[in-house]
Amino acid sequence: MFDIGVNLTSSQFAKDHADVVTRAQLAGVSGMLLTGTNLHESQQALLLAQQYQGCWSTAGVHPHDASQWQDETAQAIRELAGASEVVAIGECGLDFNRNFSTPAEQERAFTAQLALAADLMMPVFLHCREAHERFIALLDPWLDKLPGVVLHCFTGTEDEARECLARGLFIGVTGWVCDERRGLELRELLPVIPAHQLLLETDAPYLLPRDLKPKPASRRNEPCYLPHILNKVAEWRGEDPAWLAQVTDDNARRLFRLA
Ligand SMILES: [Zn+2]
Repeated sequence: MFDIGVNLTSSQFAKDHADVVTRAQLAGVSGMLLTGTNLHESQQALLLAQQYQGCWSTAGVHPHDASQWQDETAQAIRELAGASEVVAIGECGLDFNRNFSTPAEQERAFTAQLALAADLMMPVFLHCREAHERFIALLDPWLDKLPGVVLHCFTGTEDEARECLARGLFIGVTGWVCDERRGLELRELLPVIPAHQLLLETDAPYLLPRDLKPKPASRRNEPCYLPHILNKVAEWRGEDPAWLAQVTDDNARRLFRLA
């Protein structure tokens, strides 16, 4: 199994990331992509990826942090991307849900990172929240120049999913789908996603699946819960979990060009 979204640089993991990685591996999660969300976090994610077997990282600036984007940021990300453990540019994209950075700042940082990824011929790890139309408009001119695209933590509508899939994007599904209230729309559109475009992720330490039994003492999500998400997704898609584990693992390794 491959968890394509682990925020291992989060302060919530500062005391025990070695245990978190070990627990994940014991649960059968043999690959993890550690998310870089700004320059500093991307540097930290790379250090962790170098430290742990089966871990790789992204380098980029999240829309929340887009106000930090400067011309020098592109060069710094380019240097990070030279490390063999850095396998995608991102997390980048648009988030008009919270607007921690202004939409204009977000669009500028997003486009700059798409250009950088195209120049480096690297896949991109994208975030989109309540910004689908602008997201597609900004992404479209770059699609034929990018070797691969994943929209992680998909929370959009079925129509939005279809538009992404038609463009060849991979869709990342988190434990959001296990939420009996806000995850229902995603649960219902799961069968729309072709298996070869599906990726799984925990987005740990966020989005602890709400239906874990027994309920963990901590609200902190961990990559060791990926098998739970896999089993639920397989059930709702009517697929064999072992088969889906293999297919989604292959997808991640193909997209991120891992041996
Ligand atoms: Zn995200």
